[in-house]
Amino acid sequence: MNVETQAIHAGHVVDPASGAIVAPVHFSTTYERAADGSYPLDYVYSRLGNPNRLALEARITALEGGNDAASFASGSAAIYALLQTLGQGDHVVAPDVLYYGIRIIMTDILARQGIVTTFVDMSRPQNVAAALRPETRLVLLETPSNPELGVSDIRKISDIAHDAGAMVACDNTIATPVFQKPLQLGADYVMHATTKYLGGHSDVLGGIIVTGEVDERFERLQQIQQVGGAVPSPLECWLTLRGIETLPLRVRAHADNALQIAQFLEQHPAVERVNYPGLQSHPAHDVACKQMSGYGGLLSLHVRGGADEALAMTGKVKLFRRATSFGGTHSLIEHRASMEKGVTRTAPNLLRVSVGLEHVDDLIADLDQALRG
Ligand SMILES: *Cc1c(COP(=O)(O)O)cnc(C)c1O
Repeated sequence: MNVETQAIHAGHVVDPASGAIVAPVHFSTTYERAADGSYPLDYVYSRLGNPNRLALEARITALEGGNDAASFASGSAAIYALLQTLGQGDHVVAPDVLYYGIRIIMTDILARQGIVTTFVDMSRPQNVAAALRPETRLVLLETPSNPELGVSDIRKISDIAHDAGAMVACDNTIATPVFQKPLQLGADYVMHATTKYLGGHSDVLGGIIVTGEVDERFERLQQIQQVGGAVPSPLECWLTLRGIETLPLRVRAHADNALQIAQFLEQHPAVERVNYPGLQSHPAHDVACKQMSGYGGLLSLHVRGGADEALAMTGKVKLFRRATSFGGTHSLIEHRASMEKGVTRTAPNLLRVSVGLEHVDDLIADLDQALRG
């Protein structure tokens, strides 16, 4: 099946009780046993599983071409759960540019549990090879990366990690499964903040880990999901499923707008540099062309000057909203370093732009007037 069809049909069932095409939200926390004590439909208690969550996991599994998935209350909870399958003495290699919350999990929480992370520049696969140790269990990838839109070679890094006996998990939040399929490029796990493009409307938090193989580690991950309990509610699963139905249409429109905005910004005299994998000028544009079928809706720019000039620019936008997050219908702009506060490694003149679904001419006009000051 093609992605447009999967986005609508995978995990979809007509409600057997009513014939409803749109699934009901199953708010019940508990499910009845049969007279013999068995559970006729395998549902017991909502934290362990419910029809809305099962449908969500089935749909995203299909989109990523995986074998199963475990969903969580946020993208952070999903990645944290995967990291919790590691134990004392295990070593992780992670990108030096990655979602800042994940860096905090590694440096402030996992480090105290005896799990050590080496951060490397993953634009060069040989840096990963150099960081591997006998006890390396996991290589984490985030491509494109947040907020610098760096691109790393999933195939090459997966081969290097597997040769050393480490598994590979790729954060596919920015690309989405419409534009990039990490499992087909060699990754063992794919993770998403479904909060972003999959939900797509800035109204629901969520996260998921999709696995290529249902192995012992994935079963441990499901145990962490069910016993740890950082699960999405049935309503959140329902909202995310609804968002996914239009995912292919939305992300192509986001990407069309983003490329035109990136090209506009690149030639603007008030802009020093634009980070977008679809631009010829991107240092890994060739890798992006090889492993992505589209370049997504997120970009960042370096305003000429420093933090003051960047913040002043965000003060002048009229259509863009000054807010964090991305993947929704509204265009957003954010001064990233001041959001990431103490842990930031982001340049002070960097602005991250989530390109929405408004008309691109209106968006360009707004950026232009804000940059002109
Ligand atoms: C937003 C984001 C996360 C965290 O997701 P939450 O749902 O906010 O916890 C993780 N990785 C990437 C790339 C993100 O953009």
